[in-house]
Amino acid sequence: MMPIHQSGGAAIEGALLPEAQVMRAADGALALRASRCRACGQPTFPRTDVCPFCLGEENEDLALAGTATLYAFTQVHIAPRHWQTPYLIGYADFDCGLRLFAKLNPHTSWAPGATARLHVEAVAAGTGTGEVAYRYHLGA
Ligand SMILES: [Zn+2]
Repeated sequence: MMPIHQSGGAAIEGALLPEAQVMRAADGALALRASRCRACGQPTFPRTDVCPFCLGEENEDLALAGTATLYAFTQVHIAPRHWQTPYLIGYADFDCGLRLFAKLNPHTSWAPGATARLHVEAVAAGTGTGEVAYRYHLGA
């Protein structure tokens, strides 16, 4: 696939996150580390120790993975240096109530309401960068 931008000389196909913001889902796949407030039930990404809705301090980890419903998207033609354009970005809604912004796989035809699968992967595995990239792929 075509890289979306470059980071430290490596081709990256999604937004970058430190490894601490990633966890394993129940099926063992990499997932984004969100949290859910035990007091009000609201989910938050990235994970937080204090709920932004009720200031509750008891938050449990929530693995953000699997599929979401694409809410809206657009194509970007002007970007920072070294980023390849055009590329797609959008919001998708997860069943847990979170709306997550991410890049979209550029090689498919997207439409609002489409099923977007969150894809999380380690960047340059074995190099010790501790970074992951995430983006949406079309379909379940
Ligand atoms: Zn709360």
